[in-house]
Amino acid sequence: MDRMDLERIIRQEIINSLFQTQEFLVVGNWKMNKTKQEVIEFLNKISGYDFGQKNTVVVAPPNPYLYLFEEKLRYTKVLYGVQNFYPEEKGAFTGEISLAMARDFGCKYAIVGHSERRTIFMECDEFTSRKVEFCIKNSIKPILCIGENLKQRKEEDYKQFLVNQIKEGLSLIGENELSNIIIAYEPIWAIGTGETATPEQVEETHMFIRKFLIDHFGSEIGKEIPLLYGGSVKPSNVKELALAESVSGFLIGGASLNAQSFIEINDILNGK
Ligand code: PEP
Repeated sequence: MDRMDLERIIRQEIINSLFQTQEFLVVGNWKMNKTKQEVIEFLNKISGYDFGQKNTVVVAPPNPYLYLFEEKLRYTKVLYGVQNFYPEEKGAFTGEISLAMARDFGCKYAIVGHSERRTIFMECDEFTSRKVEFCIKNSIKPILCIGENLKQRKEEDYKQFLVNQIKEGLSLIGENELSNIIIAYEPIWAIGTGETATPEQVEETHMFIRKFLIDHFGSEIGKEIPLLYGGSVKPSNVKELALAESVSGFLIGGASLNAQSFIEINDILNGK
């Protein structure tokens, strides 16, 4: 074994022991994927798996499968949530589901303002803020997604764009409700493209967002709001990304669809 090998092994050991204590929030976003049989197979694989105690593990499946999550995950530590809902109690909103329905099936989280909702379904900041507010009223934790596109990234004003998305997204909730918010930074150019932001880019942006949260909401709460990274996260890159300062966890699309890679990511974040 040469010196480089030895250094690599020591570095891995240090990272593993760091990850054995650091708490992460790991959220899988399945989008519009999977058949009933595939969901059952996935749940059978993860329901008996030991995800450890320190991390919070969440999956957001398509709504028709929530009953399977309720059935199979009831006695496990894996939580689940919705990818979308309509911010009204009930009524004439054809095709939509309410948060009361999500709660009925045991959901604890909701993804809000995902870039696919913003670009494909034209959901604006104002509507996103109503959804965040509605989550809080219904005791569901909103995962507020923010992120710039490639053009904005190149134009260098993307940081102001991110700040505006946060300000708008949180505009309808009070300061004492901020402890129930999660923010996910997802650069649009890295979602589902295989193109991951580098750990340096993630760290720089996360530290900028963290500083904004502290300046804007005060250091006590600003330091505590979980700040996830999302964008082509997979077993092969999650370790380096998790080392980036101010990363509290991950929002994972593609790699959360496969039970093995979802477990592998969680194992890495447990220092296994
Ligand atoms: C996402 O859907 O939020 C996401 C980050 O997807 P992917 O991991 O596939 O890029």
